[in-house]
Amino acid sequence: MVGEDGAATPEAAQPPADPSPGSGGGGYDGKCVFCRISRREEPGTALLPCESEGLVCFRDIRPGARHHYLVVPIEHMGNCKTLKKEHIPLVEKMMEAGKNILQQNNFTDLNDIRMGFHWPPFCSISHLHLHVLAPASQLGFLSRMIYRINSYWFITVTFHLLEWSLDSMD
Ligand SMILES: [Zn+2]
Ligand SMILES: [Zn+2]
Repeated sequence: MVGEDGAATPEAAQPPADPSPGSGGGGYDGKCVFCRISRREEPGTALLPCESEGLVCFRDIRPGARHHYLVVPIEHMGNCKTLKKEHIPLVEKMMEAGKNILQQNNFTDLNDIRMGFHWPPFCSISHLHLHVLAPASQLGFLSRMIYRINSYWFITVTFHLLEWSLDSMD
């Protein structure tokens, strides 16, 4: 939820949307497109089967690869800059869901995938989302630029997890 770590993110300081009846509690921002998608309020974006509780998957609206999915927590939470160590299990769950969605779509070479977060401000949507792209070896030129491993604007997950574990050691 935004309130808990709001101090670190001026962007997240928008007034909370009035909770719509029956939306199942907090973490919903009616102005956020990913909140609406995850609650099936955007007819243009179909949710893909995703067995992970609390997460949804759907196709990126502007695919950068043959397979390009987004894994999104249903509860609104800020972008990857607001992630903390305690979010590692969530991120791992998101990665797991990303692999599952690839396998469900008959992509099984898990060495040829790219998963990561866009580092603000190179991120158009502040709701946390994991990009899942495959095959990584066939990314087009533009996609290679945008989703380049550990570029300033695209932080691949394993790198980031490593950073977190180092953080937690001191
Ligand atoms: Zn949201
Ligand atoms: Zn993004």
